[in-house]
Amino acid sequence: MKNLNLWIDGKSVPALSGRTFLLHDPATGVAISQVQEAQAADVDLAVQAARRALHGPWGALPHHERLDLLMGVVDGIMRRFDEFLAAEIADTGKPVGLASVVDIPRGAANFRIFAEMARNLSTECFPMDTPDGAGALNYALRVPLGVVGVICPWNLPLLLMTWKVGPALAAGNTVVVKPSEETPSTATLLGEVMAQVGIPDGVYNVVHGFGPGSAGEALTRHPDVAAVTFTGESATGAAIMRSVADHVKPVSFELGGKNASIVFADADFDAAVSGTLRSAFSNCGQVCLCSERVYVERPIFDRFVAALKAGAEGLRRGDPLEAETTMGPLVSAQHRDKVASYFALAREEGATVVTGGQVAQMPGKLAGGYWVEPTIWTGLAEDSRCVKEEVFGPVCHVAPFDTEQEAIALANDTEYGLCAAIWTGNLARAHRVAAAMDVGIVWVNSWFLRDLRTPFGGTGRSGIGREGGVHSIDFYTELKNICIKL
Ligand code: NAD
Repeated sequence: MKNLNLWIDGKSVPALSGRTFLLHDPATGVAISQVQEAQAADVDLAVQAARRALHGPWGALPHHERLDLLMGVVDGIMRRFDEFLAAEIADTGKPVGLASVVDIPRGAANFRIFAEMARNLSTECFPMDTPDGAGALNYALRVPLGVVGVICPWNLPLLLMTWKVGPALAAGNTVVVKPSEETPSTATLLGEVMAQVGIPDGVYNVVHGFGPGSAGEALTRHPDVAAVTFTGESATGAAIMRSVADHVKPVSFELGGKNASIVFADADFDAAVSGTLRSAFSNCGQVCLCSERVYVERPIFDRFVAALKAGAEGLRRGDPLEAETTMGPLVSAQHRDKVASYFALAREEGATVVTGGQVAQMPGKLAGGYWVEPTIWTGLAEDSRCVKEEVFGPVCHVAPFDTEQEAIALANDTEYGLCAAIWTGNLARAHRVAAAMDVGIVWVNSWFLRDLRTPFGGTGRSGIGREGGVHSIDFYTELKNICIKL
């Protein structure tokens, strides 16, 4: 079994606490790694290393040299692509066909995008008139926040972590990362890459562990952590907000969702079915952007449900390392049990189970993994818990609607506001409905398609702030106003 150390000050180190926890392969249930659990003392070492780097070698580097080093990280990840891929698949169980085209390439690309962006960023400057006629120059400078605490989930471990670390470092900060306890491996590998490509010690640190009473909470409470960027559940976001309140730290939150898809009868039917199949079941439903509520215009409802059922039943569960596998397991036994509890709840709440609704029995070495069936429900009341609460598994509820106004009202009837997908062949309707959605991101006739320079984030319980492009740099910098009298 592998031992996974912390990564502090450019070195792989065991936890001072001597505590460890076990990591299991979600596809088989077999223990694969023993992970060192950081406590407050380890977190303090990491934060102090990050502070030394900030005020020492990283802060002293000319801006363009820092960005050149980050471009080196892109190459460093791509050189060890197969190791990153194997580690991500072992931790998450996601199919190789997904991880090899999404997780690892995007994990590398996040450094390139933000290094290029930071190289070309300008700030504002206003030549001012003054009463004596000499004038003044009033301008703004971007300065790094300091040591940033980065707390990540398990569903897209490398991708979502580098989505934060890339811009944070490009803006001149240093970081202490707390990966999910379920998926600690690629963050640790990235430490080795950072050292190999010459990123100074202490710029990038990794502390493993859990949330409350462990590394996560210690990081958010540390007085020398200037800001916290977090992706995860809304309830965890609320807990982190309480932790940072005493020090009034800025937060950036990417939280949960209960996203709607609206399918109008005038949509390209096959595109709407395959798009909804992807949006409901990608990564075994473990993407914050997944559609768990699907509203279909009544004239095509029965045909749509039948086609979605056929698509779901055509998904292929199997060894994540096989190219033909299109659906992996859930990430953990605990999460499998949570999703299974919604299978039971849906039946109690009166759902018609169109397909799935069970824990899946798998043959051979996969028998001990955390497998479930892709599941489609109909017939639930809009106020039932299965329609209101984020399940974060391969489930969706499909309900009919009669008018555009009704579809908009149904889609917006949630505390969350991450994203929505609209399927229609009517351009005016696309604009109208997109504008009416109470969410941060709307897709029309697509899903999970975006230019990384655009703002990403949710409203309501789905988050605070926007990441992506210059919006990320905005979070990871303070703007300093300087006025020079001439
Ligand atoms: P989670 O909230 O359980 O855990 C996320 C991270 O927070 C983990 O590293 C965990 O150890 C840490 N943590 C937990 N409690 C903490 C505390 N009190 N203090 C500090 N850290 C703490 O989320 P998860 O189960 O890993 O991820 C799934 C959730 O993430 C879903 O709700 C999903 O919608 C959401 N998500 C959102 C986005 C987005 O961009 N909006 C993206 C991916 C996932």
